[in-house]
Amino acid sequence: MNEYLKNLDRIEFVVTMNCTGRCKHCSEGEHISASPHIDSDTAVKTVKAVCGLYDIKSLMTFGGEPLLYPETVAAIHRTAFELGIPQCDIITNGYFSKNKDKIKDTALLLRDSRAETVLLSVDAFHQETIPLEPVEFFAHCLRENGIYVEISPAWLVGRNADNPYNAITSELIGKFAAKGFNIGNGNVIFPEGNALKYFGEYFREGEAVSNPYEESPYDLHSLCIGCDGSALNGNIYEKDILQLIEEYSPV
Ligand code: SF4
Repeated sequence: MNEYLKNLDRIEFVVTMNCTGRCKHCSEGEHISASPHIDSDTAVKTVKAVCGLYDIKSLMTFGGEPLLYPETVAAIHRTAFELGIPQCDIITNGYFSKNKDKIKDTALLLRDSRAETVLLSVDAFHQETIPLEPVEFFAHCLRENGIYVEISPAWLVGRNADNPYNAITSELIGKFAAKGFNIGNGNVIFPEGNALKYFGEYFREGEAVSNPYEESPYDLHSLCIGCDGSALNGNIYEKDILQLIEEYSPV
């Protein structure tokens, strides 16, 4: 087994970078050019192969907006369920269509794929460009289909920091709390890229901050597969994931 991956216990798929949102804080840039999306069959094959070698404890699909490709998300989560991965999450902004039938069908599809948890991004930043109504409707559809929904807001500086963005976020998530949805801790916006460009005044100059999502390349716990198939210095469309795992080197 590759020593740099001996602790691998998680798989993440960036399903696509296409997105319905244009959040100012987005770490993924402006989303102005069209992005590919991950191929379902290759993704499924990859999950099966990795689970044959490692004890995978969690899997996540996100984007961009992953539910622009609901069949792909469903195929990945169905496979994860069949392989017994204990924790599987979808991170979504909840806005992939305005059409209520399409929203209902997507919730049904996720139920049938045995998706368990949907983390729904709701906050001042997302709701600058994403209408709340379809998001609320989707949350209700998910709940009706027995899928656990957790509202996952982004906070500026810290959850308890006093600023106009956090005030709007508190009001928005309060609407979901009033309807009985669970509110998660969410995340604190990391001062990088667009976040630094638009909210630089809120971050202290010269303050050293480490990116909480960054892993040591010498001890990878998470296998992250990009929407173009990129993974571990290679690409799953060009090489089998097990070969990429074998060949991986951080240097
Ligand atoms: S919804 Fe997510 S991926 Fe899309 S622009 Fe907003 S932060 Fe970025």
